[in-house]
Amino acid sequence: MVVFGTGASNGIGIGKAAVVRDIKPEVIKTFVSDVVAEEKRFLDTLEKTKEETENMIKVLADKVGEKEAAILEGHILLMSDPALIDEISKIIKNDSVNAEFAVESVCDLYAGMFASMDDELMQQRAADMNDIKLRLIKELSGIKSVDIASLEEGSILIAEDLTPSMTSGLDPHAVYGIVTELGGRTSHSAILARALEIPAVVACKEIISSVKDGDIVCFDGEKGEVYINPDEEKKKFFEEEKNIYLTKKRELEAYKGKESITKDGYKAELAANIGNPNDAAKALEYDAEGIGLFRTEFLFMDRNNVPSEEEQFEAYKKVASLMKGKPVIIRTLDIGGDKEIPYLGIEKDENPFLGYRAVRLCLDRYEDLYKPQLLALLRASAFGDIRIMIPFISCVDELRKAKALINELKKELDEKNIAYNKDIKVGIMMETAAASLIADILAKEADFFSIGTNDLTQYTMAVDRGNDKVSYLYSSLNPAVLRSIKNIILEGKKAGIPVGMCGEAAADKLMLPLLLAWGLDEFSMSASSILELRKSIINYTRKEAIEIAEKAMEFETEEEIRAYLRKVC
Ligand code: PEP
Ligand code: MG
Repeated sequence: MVVFGTGASNGIGIGKAAVVRDIKPEVIKTFVSDVVAEEKRFLDTLEKTKEETENMIKVLADKVGEKEAAILEGHILLMSDPALIDEISKIIKNDSVNAEFAVESVCDLYAGMFASMDDELMQQRAADMNDIKLRLIKELSGIKSVDIASLEEGSILIAEDLTPSMTSGLDPHAVYGIVTELGGRTSHSAILARALEIPAVVACKEIISSVKDGDIVCFDGEKGEVYINPDEEKKKFFEEEKNIYLTKKRELEAYKGKESITKDGYKAELAANIGNPNDAAKALEYDAEGIGLFRTEFLFMDRNNVPSEEEQFEAYKKVASLMKGKPVIIRTLDIGGDKEIPYLGIEKDENPFLGYRAVRLCLDRYEDLYKPQLLALLRASAFGDIRIMIPFISCVDELRKAKALINELKKELDEKNIAYNKDIKVGIMMETAAASLIADILAKEADFFSIGTNDLTQYTMAVDRGNDKVSYLYSSLNPAVLRSIKNIILEGKKAGIPVGMCGEAAADKLMLPLLLAWGLDEFSMSASSILELRKSIINYTRKEAIEIAEKAMEFETEEEIRAYLRKVC
């Protein structure tokens, strides 16, 4: 069986399906003839669920904290209650009914009892009881709740969608692939899958209803076709493809240590996008010439409170030190839109992509959010070439305000004699239609531009970047987006400031000749794409690129442009 989605992270995924689904199982009362076997099925399931809970406690304690882990200790206590076990067993034996039904009846009774007590602790017990009930019934019915952090090696993770925090909790050595029903190429789960080098297909609508735990799943993360339980021949084909892919990857090693320079001497800088300090090591492994985008929001995820100034300082300093003097562009907190941080207590906007996000929110929450981050960035700038980047700018006032705050904080640091880079560069992301239209104005006050094509495409085409119903509009090769990109680069160049790109289009080989032609200085992408792009750059002359760009811009539709570029690239 084949189901179709959108290729989101290159590579060949072959492995066993591990389905993450949060469905409430429907329990049907059935009569059983062998009550002894049915009771055993219940007791075995109970033991297994307890063991799994013990494991989850260990993982949770390591990853999140002892406090969260303690909640699950309560689950173990409830599951060990002899009265509860006895009552479930009795119902199975006396009424000759299935274990699922007995579990539901008794757990509902207990939960109801706890819920009726006027005590907060007891109310919590009721919720715990419901959790246990669901886990037991799922286990009995063969519906697996997969603990993402401890998936078996060789799993293909199948889910409706993955939040960034879920994805960042993955063990990349265990997960051989990801397939989701929702999302798009630039959703954060896809971006993280690329960063972790896990092959992925997203927007695969029928995947959950088509696959069950343990099924063999094979797919090509570039093409988006997902095969479920393929025949031997197909499986062999994918195994060969995987070998070819891995060989090609090894061949790219030859481009390490080379300059990213065209045949006629146009030199570009190839940098990496990262989400946490440890990714910097990976960036260096792929020979990144700098960090073009550090998405700091990931430091704020997977936890229950704002990381302190000190904690952030350590993280930024670590990246700066690892990169040993190479440029490190750190973006200030960019949340809102599809990036939520529950503990910040931000009300959900009716239209989150156009609402209270990124710099808008930071300027508003200066004391608790922006100030500690800016101070941490300034202090860390004493340890490397850190540059501050402000996201989601839509008017010059926002840039002025952010710069004024940075200048105030510099004075504070001066007074305290704390070291920082006095010439620290403050640049902006160019990712709204407004920013593009006033690129000339912004270029006078920004130290650099970095084009965020993921959002620039969204805000230029008025198309939600994660909505697959309108994904036909979501392409950076639309003439409107290309004109916008060209304008930003040319205005930046005119003002004499460097212009980079950190959206996904920076690694797109079809886009490459256009960006070389217009004079993009820095291309920032997933570390794993760097060597391939370097290989492509080395094969161009700037002259060829200019000819291609001129011709491409004569076409009127995305389709024509894409077809032409496919022919010549
Ligand atoms: C972008 O919008 O292109 C970008 C790089 O930022 P993000 O994907 O984090 O919104
Ligand atoms: Mg963006």
